[in-house]
Amino acid sequence: MEKSLLNKSDPRFDSHLRPKSLSQFIGHEKVKKQLNILIAAAKGRGEPLGHILFHGPPGLGKTTLANILAEEMGSRLFLTSGPAIDKAGDLAGLLTNLEKDNLFFIDEIHRLSRNVEEYLYPAMENFCLDLMIDSGAHARSVQVELKPFTLIGATTRSGLISSPLRSRFVNIVRLEYYTVEALAEIVTRSATILGCQIDKKGAEEIASRSRGTPRMANNLLRWVRDIAQLHNANKIVATLVEEACQMIGIDKVGLNDMDKKILELLIDMHDGGPVGLKSIAASIGEEETTLAEVYEPYLISQGYLKRTPRGRAATKYAYEHLGYTLKAEETSKKD
Ligand code: ADP
Repeated sequence: MEKSLLNKSDPRFDSHLRPKSLSQFIGHEKVKKQLNILIAAAKGRGEPLGHILFHGPPGLGKTTLANILAEEMGSRLFLTSGPAIDKAGDLAGLLTNLEKDNLFFIDEIHRLSRNVEEYLYPAMENFCLDLMIDSGAHARSVQVELKPFTLIGATTRSGLISSPLRSRFVNIVRLEYYTVEALAEIVTRSATILGCQIDKKGAEEIASRSRGTPRMANNLLRWVRDIAQLHNANKIVATLVEEACQMIGIDKVGLNDMDKKILELLIDMHDGGPVGLKSIAASIGEEETTLAEVYEPYLISQGYLKRTPRGRAATKYAYEHLGYTLKAEETSKKD
């Protein structure tokens, strides 16, 4: 259950709650300022926006920002994802259909194949495609002109993006986890849209259990709203949030059963680690990519886990949080 709360995006629910303009987009003040400048400058010159790469963990607003940019530029957004573009021909089909100033969003851009990626370079640089026609002795390349467009790339694994691709983005924007205050504001806004009542403490309680992630905050709100309905409660308050979170194993700081399983595995079976990502994934029965993209970044950001050259290790904060006692001589080793 909590896993779906963490990862799942319900398109109907998402689009309902998605901010439609930069002024509705909560938090990330620096990012908004930067994007406002880019929008004003591009509009002033009558040009499309420069290509933008958003990177950061899932659910932080990359797709939302792409939609907002299209809205603010008065243009259309076309969405696809790295794994969906199988061959260069698929990419050519998508790019040749774009109108002037359209925005083209590639989610999980780090999963584009190298071959497809190479076709993207001239498209990004000169708005043209070099297509190979025929094969063998008859092979020849033809150049297809494209209308000026903006590529918006999104990735949860910026380290996996090749440097030639990265260097073709004019703007690289990193999205960090949200503060509890910003998330509480998001929860309050979403509650208003959903027509449910929540007090300040209730919103803060959801926010502090949402791993710095708006998607999680919205999904948690939806779950708590269901529990409130079950109890015939007309307002969401902190105690109700606590009860609802306990039912699905989400603790005070937002760690869920899977997070705890990861840390307990390191501590109980491997004396705190280090252990390679592959063997952690195999032991807990989770995909390596989910581990690396969803669970690990938050555990690292909160200081419960650290990455070492030999694998992942639990820190003394993980021991403390899970109620283990460390002997004095071990404490410094787990820092
Ligand atoms: P990503 O593309 O990074 O995985 P999304 O853009 O799909 O994340 O965001 C997930 C959900 O979180 C959206 O449906 C939106 O409702 C909400 N959201 C994200 N960022 C914000 C924000 N800054 N303010 C309000 N809601 C947000």
